[in-house]
Amino acid sequence: MARPLLLLTNDDGIAAPGLRALAEAVEDLGDVIVAAPDVERSGCGHAMTFNQTLRAQPAGPDRWAVGGTPADCVYFALHHVCARRPALVLSGVNAGLNLGTDVFYSGTFAGAAEGHLRGLSGIAVSVDRGVDPHQARSIVRELVGAWRPDDPPVLLNVNVPAAPPASGGEHRPAVAITRLGRRTYHDAVDERRDPYGRPYYWIGGPPGQLRGRAGDDTWAVASGIVSVTPIRLQLDDPEPTTARALVERAVADRLVCPRDPPPS
Ligand code: MN
Repeated sequence: MARPLLLLTNDDGIAAPGLRALAEAVEDLGDVIVAAPDVERSGCGHAMTFNQTLRAQPAGPDRWAVGGTPADCVYFALHHVCARRPALVLSGVNAGLNLGTDVFYSGTFAGAAEGHLRGLSGIAVSVDRGVDPHQARSIVRELVGAWRPDDPPVLLNVNVPAAPPASGGEHRPAVAITRLGRRTYHDAVDERRDPYGRPYYWIGGPPGQLRGRAGDDTWAVASGIVSVTPIRLQLDDPEPTTARALVERAVADRLVCPRDPPPS
């Protein structure tokens, strides 16, 4: 079998140590193409550049620095760079955890999700802030090595906690398959002054204490366990009781049921 093609991106930018660590982790497992933002785009979510020029510069053999977001990078690489369909889209290794509701903001997650929206398996990988991204090496290699081409595509959000201080060598902690938990931050809008006396702002405060129910990604990482969260990109509510009641009150006289014949 031909070596699988692995498409790599991140949101910390093409020069980030985490991206280099990711490439090093998988370089013998497949042919690697890197398409990553030319500058850090953390927190850009699934934004795509539709109303501006998208620049992309070669940054080495099979490496592209893209003037856009991780989702741009994956789109650009899939449709313009890759000579064959990648087996996997890998995104990271992000400097900082992406837990629970973080996935709505995370460019790291969005890079993997963009691959998944295009019918591929995607794996987003993050380590706790200040943790050597090489600590994600074993879980990345194990997941990529276990991937099978004939399986339906999967989307995984992987978070690697800090290793206990005493442990040397390769970091191989326990692994849990988790649900997305709820991550809290200290909400803050910090108003400062520029040299001309005009106000400017930094939004977003530091993360709060990690907790969560057993089985949540927040619980796993707080317990020193590697968290692997399978994600389905489906946002609609399977049991929209309150929302349904609201819509029924609003438009009762012309609400159709999917089983009804279409209105003429
Ligand atoms: Mn980031």
